[in-house]
Amino acid sequence: MQDHDCIFCKIAKGEIPAAKVYEDDEVFAFKDINPKAPVHFLIIPKKHLASLAHADAGDAALLGKMLALAPRLAREQGAENGFRVVINTGRDGGQEVAHLHMHILGGPQPWK
Ligand code: AMP
Ligand code: ZN
Repeated sequence: MQDHDCIFCKIAKGEIPAAKVYEDDEVFAFKDINPKAPVHFLIIPKKHLASLAHADAGDAALLGKMLALAPRLAREQGAENGFRVVINTGRDGGQEVAHLHMHILGGPQPWK
């Protein structure tokens, strides 16, 4: 098995509840518990990868799939006029959860 102590592995397996946005055999997406924007969800691989720095060429299709899903899921979640994709990587990259995750941030920005 993969890392049993990893919170995002547990979310991907349904062992910890999350507000699911999307799921297929390789990818899981769920709302961020502490949203920084009107739309804020995370796209993760079901396979445990500690960070983007732990991915290699064999993960290219998986990473491409995650990225290609972003516009559709962002639109479905209400980010109709654009969004940001953020992948914090490693200690100096501000990564807090050691399972690769893509932040999708968007939604109406009434202050702009
Ligand atoms: P990062 O700093 O890129 O590692 O971001 C980790 C993100 O995971 C933060 O935005 C957290 O709010 C989010 N997060 C942590 N635990 C959970 C959880 N159980 N469900 C949803 N989001 C979470
Ligand atoms: Zn994990």
